[in-house]
Amino acid sequence: MPALATEVTPEIMAKYEVVIGLEVHVQLATRTKIFCACPTSFGAPPNTNVCPVCLGLPGALPVLNRHAVELAVMTGLALNCNIPPSSVFARKNYFYPDLPKGYQISQYDKPIAEHGFVDIVVNGVPKRIGVTRAHMEDDAGKSIHEGFKDSDRFTYVDLNRTGTPLVEIVSEPDMRSADEAYEFLTELKQTLQFCAVSTCDMEKGHLRCDANVSVRLKGAPEFGTKAEVKNVNSFRFVKMAIEYEVQRQIAVVESGGKVVQESRLFDPGSGETVSMRSKEHAHDYRYFPEPDLLPLQISDAWRTSIQATMPELPQSRRKRFVDAYGLREYDAQTLTSTRDLSDYFERAAKASGDARSAANWVMGDLAGALKADNKEITESPVSSEQLGELLAFVAKGEISNKLAKDVFEKMFTTGDSAGAIIEREGLKQISDTSALDKIIDEVITANPKQVEQYKSGKTQVVGFLVGQIMKASKGQANPALVSQMLKDRLG
Ligand SMILES: [Zn+2]
Repeated sequence: MPALATEVTPEIMAKYEVVIGLEVHVQLATRTKIFCACPTSFGAPPNTNVCPVCLGLPGALPVLNRHAVELAVMTGLALNCNIPPSSVFARKNYFYPDLPKGYQISQYDKPIAEHGFVDIVVNGVPKRIGVTRAHMEDDAGKSIHEGFKDSDRFTYVDLNRTGTPLVEIVSEPDMRSADEAYEFLTELKQTLQFCAVSTCDMEKGHLRCDANVSVRLKGAPEFGTKAEVKNVNSFRFVKMAIEYEVQRQIAVVESGGKVVQESRLFDPGSGETVSMRSKEHAHDYRYFPEPDLLPLQISDAWRTSIQATMPELPQSRRKRFVDAYGLREYDAQTLTSTRDLSDYFERAAKASGDARSAANWVMGDLAGALKADNKEITESPVSSEQLGELLAFVAKGEISNKLAKDVFEKMFTTGDSAGAIIEREGLKQISDTSALDKIIDEVITANPKQVEQYKSGKTQVVGFLVGQIMKASKGQANPALVSQMLKDRLG
């Protein structure tokens, strides 16, 4: 934490309450833009995915993208929002070099979704964070300030992003710590990714976050003056930015100053926020209803049909994994971090008949092997059904857990099934007592000292003898059976 004018001790911190609200811009996963048929694909050469509509040329008329509306409705439903039957697009007027229309088409007093919530858990304590609204809007282009040989003198503009569909999600000022904000964002991102309304890929700017932060003395009736930290591009940075802002604002108040309402930028290098522009005179965007678009009507039937296509959301899935499969809370959390991972686990659990073992393998051996190969779960050379088959062999006692690890490694490199590898390499567990008798005889003869120790009461030596038998059987003996037979033999 960088030095501040006034030192903010924990005692001083404890006098204050932190108030945080978040505004999150999410790019909807449509193939084309919100008001024209230009592609939304990332990385195209500058100014190639454009047309008269998204360039804002005179006379061009917007045509609303139905898929974008469906994804926005789904976003609202996933955040437990009310979807009013009618919402209205509005012009938000401002000038910016990467905004050729001179206005953004957004929604103002009648958004597509409102009055929702997101449930989070921080340090074991559940909390409900209100969602004020989610509204649709088009994105602006990009000003590029670096990367060209004359970037010291010129700014370049790429309008490919202009007209990309966004939803802006506005939370209530319900969060009281940076940790709560971090959890809210994490839950929000997972939920939206499960619904596939957005990739939420922060590196590509598909999810961008502004944080409104203020402090007040505990018990004070009114909110303090807020500063807005703009466009933070990772959740970790959001947390750091909020932590810095809280200290900075308390230091200002403690030293007799006043917090100024302003926009600030977070600098990950220094861990500080710096003033961007004063907001003392709030922008007047002169909102008015967009004359080129009719009010957007969402019928009950349409809303219901969108709802019917939604998957089970992460929160409900986590609960079900705990209740139905007996998983630990933490494991359920890990296994629902993405929809692909939770689908994989659930298929493997069903195929294996042993959900807890499937959970351990997915989070352990499989995760390790994927990481070593730099692969995603969707690229796993071992399918969920194949992993389930392997674990079923273990559950039925046909191979030991230790051998299963060897078989798994072979499955991962060859893509062959567990059954094929076990068959080919003759790895089936030996549960045939006459075959085991022979090996036990050999081990008893070879280790008279340990046998003597056992008979004199040092029964823990049985572990050593079982180990020798396992070794002699190349790991194929059934260890539980061996242990029992050995004890019977040694009396
Ligand atoms: Zn276009």
